[in-house]
Amino acid sequence: MGDYLRPASLDEALQALARPWTVLAGGTDFYPARVGRLIDDNVLDITAIAALRGIAADAAGWHLGATTTWSELIEADLPPLFDGLKQAAREVGGRQIQNAGTVAGNLCNASPAADGVPALLALDAEVELAGRAGRRRLPLSAFITGNRRTALAPGELLVAVHVPKASASARSAFLKLGARRYLVISIAMAAATLEVEDHRVAAARVAVGACSAVAQRLPALEAALAGAPLDAALGDRVDAAHLAPLSPIDDVRGSAAYRRDTAITLLRRLLRSLA
Ligand SMILES: Cc1cc2nc3c(=O)[nH]c(=O)nc-3n(C[C@H](O)[C@H](O)[C@H](O)COP(=O)(O)OP(=O)(O)OC[C@H]3O[C@@H](n4cnc5c(N)ncnc54)[C@H](O)[C@@H]3O)c2cc1C
Repeated sequence: MGDYLRPASLDEALQALARPWTVLAGGTDFYPARVGRLIDDNVLDITAIAALRGIAADAAGWHLGATTTWSELIEADLPPLFDGLKQAAREVGGRQIQNAGTVAGNLCNASPAADGVPALLALDAEVELAGRAGRRRLPLSAFITGNRRTALAPGELLVAVHVPKASASARSAFLKLGARRYLVISIAMAAATLEVEDHRVAAARVAVGACSAVAQRLPALEAALAGAPLDAALGDRVDAAHLAPLSPIDDVRGSAAYRRDTAITLLRRLLRSLA
C-alpha cells in the first residue's frame, strides 16, 4: 500500500500536493476503479478539511464546498433553482452512495454519465481550483475537457462549486433514463433551468448528458425557448436540429440513435414539467 494522509487544513493538503497523491473524497468512484487489485496509490483523503465542508450563500450566489455530499445537498434549504440538481442527487446511486459521494468528486471523475454535470451546467456553475500558487475559477463547461479529463493541473484541488444567483422566478428540473429504476447508469439525462417573466421564458439554460464525451448545453434550443409562453406546448419547441452539439455513441446501454431519440423525449417531458 502507498502512503495515506488525512490533513485537517487546506494548506497542509496543498503543501502535500507538491508531490503526486491521489485525492480521495467519498471514494465511490475511487474504490470501484480499483476492485481486485492492491491500492498502491499515495492517498490524500480530503474529508477532514473543515474549509471544504458545507453550503453557503452570499450576494453573488451559492458556494458548495468540495466535500459536500449528495445527501447534504438534498437536505439543504435551497430555492427552487436547485430542484433539478436535487433531483439529480436523488438518482446518484442509492442512499449509501449519496451519503458518501460528493458533488465535486462527480465532476473530477468526469464520466460522460455523471449526473451532476448537466444539472450544474444548467445552473451556469463555476468551479474553484486551489494550488500552492493560488486560486482560479473556471466555468464548469471549461473544467471538464473530455471523457475522464479535466483542467485540474498537477497539485490542484477542486475546492468549491459556485452557482450564481438567478432571478427569484428561476426553477430547474432534471430527468434521467436508465435501464431500471434505481442504481442505474444514465443512458441519457437532461437538465433545464428556466427564468420566467410574465408567464414567458425570460431565459433558458438546457443541458444533456451521456450523449457526448462531455455533457453539453444546447444554445439553439435555449434561443428557441427564450420569449416562449410558459404552457404545455413548451416541450413541442424541441427540434432534432437543436441536438447538433451532441455526439452520442453506440454502447452496451444503448445505440446512438436510441440516445438521440431519448434526449428529445426527455427534453420535451422536462420542459412540459417545468411549464
Ligand atoms: C453503486 C454506485 C452507484 C453510482 N451511481 C451513480 C449515478 O447514478 N450517477 C452518477 O453520476 N454517479 C454514480 N456513481 C459514481 C459516484 O458515486 C459519483 O460520481 C460520486 O459523486 C463521486 O464522488 P466521491 O466523493 O465518491 O468521489 P471519489 O471516488 O472520492 O473521487 C472521484 C475522483 O475525483 C477525484 N477527486 C475527488 N474530489 C476531488 C477534489 N476536491 N479535487 C480534486 N480531485 C478530486 C478523485 O481523485 C477521483 O479521481 C455511483 C457509484 C457507485 C459505487
